Amino acid sequence: MLVKICGIREPEMARKVAASGVDFIGLLFTSHSPRQIDIATAKEITAVVKDYPTKVVGVFFDETPEKIAEIDKELNLDVIQLHGDLPRSGVSNFTHKPIIYVADGKPLPECLDVAKDFILYEKIEPEETGFRWFLAGGLDKDNVSGLIDKYAPTGVDLSSGVEISRGVKDFAKIREFLAVIRPTYYGAYGGMYVPELLIEPLKDLIDAVKTIMHSPEFQAEYLNLLKNFVGRPTALTEVKNFAKAIGLTSVHLKREDLTHTGAHKINNALGQCLLAKKMGKPRIIAETGAGQHGVATATACAMLGLECVVYMGQVDVERQAPNVAKMRLLGAKVVAVTDGSATLKDAVNEALRDWAASYETTHYCLGTALGPYPFPQICAEFQAVIGREAKAQYNEQVGSDPDMVIACVGGGSNAIGVFQEFIPDEKIKLVGVEAGGYGVKVGENAARFQSGKLGVLHGNRTYVLQTEDGQIADTHSVSAGLDYAAVGPQHADLYATGRAHYDVATDDEALIAFQLLTRTEGIIPALESSHALAYLMKVAKDLPKDCKVLVNLSGRGDKDLPGLLARELVHVTN
Ligand SMILES: *Cc1c(COP(=O)(O)O)cnc(C)c1O
Repeated sequence: MLVKICGIREPEMARKVAASGVDFIGLLFTSHSPRQIDIATAKEITAVVKDYPTKVVGVFFDETPEKIAEIDKELNLDVIQLHGDLPRSGVSNFTHKPIIYVADGKPLPECLDVAKDFILYEKIEPEETGFRWFLAGGLDKDNVSGLIDKYAPTGVDLSSGVEISRGVKDFAKIREFLAVIRPTYYGAYGGMYVPELLIEPLKDLIDAVKTIMHSPEFQAEYLNLLKNFVGRPTALTEVKNFAKAIGLTSVHLKREDLTHTGAHKINNALGQCLLAKKMGKPRIIAETGAGQHGVATATACAMLGLECVVYMGQVDVERQAPNVAKMRLLGAKVVAVTDGSATLKDAVNEALRDWAASYETTHYCLGTALGPYPFPQICAEFQAVIGREAKAQYNEQVGSDPDMVIACVGGGSNAIGVFQEFIPDEKIKLVGVEAGGYGVKVGENAARFQSGKLGVLHGNRTYVLQTEDGQIADTHSVSAGLDYAAVGPQHADLYATGRAHYDVATDDEALIAFQLLTRTEGIIPALESSHALAYLMKVAKDLPKDCKVLVNLSGRGDKDLPGLLARELVHVTN
C-alpha cells in the first residue's frame, strides 16, 4: 500500500516522514490553503528528502502549465499532481514526469500513461481504469482499514486526518496511521520476509499475542513468574564511585545482572515459553550464539516442563563449553550446526528450517528483538518490564526522570526493553551502544549503524553489515552477545527518525569499563553491558557534570571471565 502525505510544510517533519517510509509527500503550491508552501521552504524540503526513497509531489490547483513548469524548474519535482479545470489542457506538457491526475468525473486525458501515472479520487466514487490510484479525502487511522477493504486502492492520500489543527501535521498521528496500515513494520523497517511456509505459524503467533499474551490471566501468571522465579523487580543502584571516577555526579544502573540466570534474556525466554505452553505447543526450539539465550530458554523449559532443542554453531559449541554443559544439565538437546561459518547466523537458519517442518507442535523462541514480525514485538513487550521498573524506581530515588538512558545493542532487546518507557518524552536522550570491535573496518566490528546498509536478514528489513556483493559480512566483538550482523527493526526506526542516538565502543574501551566498574563498585558487568559503560566514560567529559544518567546493566560478567583470562585480555593483579 503506497502512502502519500499531503501538505507538509517543514523540512524536519518532511525528514521524519521520509525516514518513516512514507512513499510520497505532497507540497501544495498556489492553493490558498493553510497548507500552502513557499518556494524557499520547498527547496529545503526537497534537499532533505533526497536522501530517502520518498518522492516529492508538487500539488497544483487550477494552475497554468507555464507557472507549474517554472516551479518545477526550481525544484525538479519527482511527481506533478494536477487539480481542477485549467490543468486538463496542460497535462500534455508534463508527460516526461509521473503525474497524479485528480479525477473529476470527466473522461481522463488521452496522454496519461498507465505505466507511470496515477489517478487520485477525492470526492468522487473511484472507477476501474487500469491506472494505479490513490484514495483521498478525510482518511484517518480509524476509517482507513474499512476503506481499503472496500475499495482496494493502490495507495492512500492523507492530509487533515494526521493534523492536530488545520494545516499542522502531527508526527505521532502519522505514526499511528502507519501502524494501522503497516502493522508488521516500525516505520520503514521490519516486516515478514520469510518463505511462504512460515507465514502460517507467524499468523498463528500474531493471533496468540492478541488472544493469549494480552489476556489478563496470562499477564498475571507471567508477572508472578517474573517476581518469584526471575527475582524481579531487579535493583536500581546508584554508582557514586564509578560516577566520580569518570567526572560525573549521578549514574544509576538498572541491575538485570541480578535476575535468575544473570541477564535480561530470561524475561523474554520465560514469556515466550509460557506463551508456547498456553498455545498447546510442548516443544521449544531456540538458537544461540554465546549460549546465553540457550541457557535462558533451557531454564524456562525445565521449569515449565517443555521439551527444548537449541541450535548452536559448531564453532560456538566449542567456544562456549560451560554454557553447553549448563543447557544439557537443564535437559535441553544442543544441536551443533556445521553449515556455513558454523556460528550464530547458521544456527538461526537451522532453527527456521526446523520450525517450518514442526510448527504444529513447536514454538521458535527467538532470543532478541528482531526476526520476522511478530517476534520483535513479542520480545519488546516481554522486555518492557525493565523500563517500567527503571522509570518508577528512578523517580522514587531521584525524584525525576533521567536525562539520558544508555544500553548496549546486540539484536536490541535489552535496549528496547529499557528505552520503550522513555520514548514518548523526547527530552530524554536515548543512546544505543554497538560493538566497535577492533575498529571501523567492516568485518572487524558489529557496528550496523556505522557501516551497515539496508538489507533483509532472518525475516526483517533493517540495517545489516554486508560485503560489497551484499553477502552477510563477518562480524567481531569481544562480547558474543553483541556480535551479530543485523539489528532489530525498531532500533533501525529509532535511528532513522532520530529519536535514539547510536554509537560504538571498541573491545578495548569495553574492557577498561569492565574493570573500572568491578573495582569501583564491586559489580562485575557482562562484557556486553560494559560497552554501554564504556560509551559513558568516553562522552562524560562533554556532558554537564550533573547530567542524570541511567545505564541498563544487561547482565553479569562472571560468564566472561574464563574467556578473558584465557585470552589474557584482563590481568588479575593487586
Ligand atoms: C545477549 C546479551 C546482550 C545483547 O542482546 P540484546 O538483545 O541486544 O539485548 C546484551 N547483554 C547481555 C548480558 C546478553 O546476554
